[in-house]
Amino acid sequence: MSTQSYAIVTLGCPKNQVDSDKLAGTLTGTGMVASDDVESADVVVVNTCSFIHQARQESVDTILAVAEQRREGSRLVVTGCMAERYGDELAAELPEIDHLAPFGMSLVPVLSGPGDASPSREVEYSAVPVTLGPTGGPTRGPTRGPTGGPTGRSTNVHAGPTPDFDLLNLPRPAAQRPWAYVKIAEGCDRACGFCAIPSFRGPQRSRTIEAILAEVEQLAAKEIVLVAQDLAAYGRDQGVGQRAIVPLVRAVAAEVERVRLLYLYPSDLSAALIDTVCETGVPYFDLSLQHVSPRLLRSMRRWGNGSKFAASIGSIRRREPAAAFRSNFIVGYPGETEQDHDQLLDFIEEARLDWCGFFAYSEEVGTYAESLRGKVDTALVADRLGELSELQDTITATKRDELVGSEVEVLVDEPGIGRSYREAPEIDGVISVPQTLEVGTIQTLTVTEAMGPDLEAR
Ligand code: SF4
Repeated sequence: MSTQSYAIVTLGCPKNQVDSDKLAGTLTGTGMVASDDVESADVVVVNTCSFIHQARQESVDTILAVAEQRREGSRLVVTGCMAERYGDELAAELPEIDHLAPFGMSLVPVLSGPGDASPSREVEYSAVPVTLGPTGGPTRGPTRGPTGGPTGRSTNVHAGPTPDFDLLNLPRPAAQRPWAYVKIAEGCDRACGFCAIPSFRGPQRSRTIEAILAEVEQLAAKEIVLVAQDLAAYGRDQGVGQRAIVPLVRAVAAEVERVRLLYLYPSDLSAALIDTVCETGVPYFDLSLQHVSPRLLRSMRRWGNGSKFAASIGSIRRREPAAAFRSNFIVGYPGETEQDHDQLLDFIEEARLDWCGFFAYSEEVGTYAESLRGKVDTALVADRLGELSELQDTITATKRDELVGSEVEVLVDEPGIGRSYREAPEIDGVISVPQTLEVGTIQTLTVTEAMGPDLEAR
């Protein structure tokens, strides 16, 4: 039998990219060869996202596009969040799909096992439950809300021992770029009103520091970007009853030039974590704020308010004046009034964060917010999004202008393109650098020009 090839199309967030890398590492390990060519591969895997409505639409569009492009006789496999959450619907509606594999749990045996790649138009649906029990620690108590109390919200979890075939701990190839995402935990113990993630990713299960460090070593990247649904809560589920993000960040920082943290829940910004992040030389804080109106945040079942967030940001700036900040906000959550929106505008103007993402609220099946009244008109949401984006674009551009003439340490990601600690890969702006600089090196350069979110340095 000739060697089979596979191509993977990845949608969604950095966490999905990590899953795809692990799938690639494992499939290559079984003797299959990787291909970039959807049209010629024996197996095409679409790793889907179902976070919000637009992501689901993009996933379906991609599945249909791949089904058109692939060669006759190849197999089309759909994995990821859509396969997990809407597997039955996909199987019923899209006969183009040959195999559905939630989170890839059953994917490798199917793809690399004996047999040819003859097409089967009958969809195989491996409804293997994702096992979301703790990784070796004692069984945990009930799901906890943002303030630590039980939420009373049941999450659709299939508890049990972690299987051998677990995406979190699969091997992956060395990084293709000077930076790489590393997923340190899966799932989430919170119950934010708008979010369906805990219902299908389950409660948090953290990897061990040893497993994470082994992956960091294997990746051989200059910059490691740590990701998880609730990053700062890392470790709390391993039977130790306390977060372990600080020792983890220190351990990773000892191995690589840069370590960056994405998605920090604001109540978890301890002094020790702030100090540790600043000491790594990457004072970049990605705070998951979502809104600033106290009333709306309560309705979102989240911690905090604009004053508390401003105080946290202020204390970080006092500790490290050059700290960079990113945050995300939801616009049009049920019940959002003009007054709430004005509070958010005021906060954005005063906080002067480096980067912000604004997202229209998307109603998700089974979430608390689904039952809330006070849906905000779509046109009004678009107006509010426009106002916020315009304001933030001006702030970002001004902050970038202020950097002209300053020295920056730039990691060269690809010929002519690099990033300082202020820019997370694939999310923030970039720095245009001389083409001659070697990829993977860190260079001290001077910023010569700012162009909106991007910089030029020589
Ligand atoms: S929004 Fe983030 S912290 Fe809240 S439940 Fe979803 S994944 Fe967890």
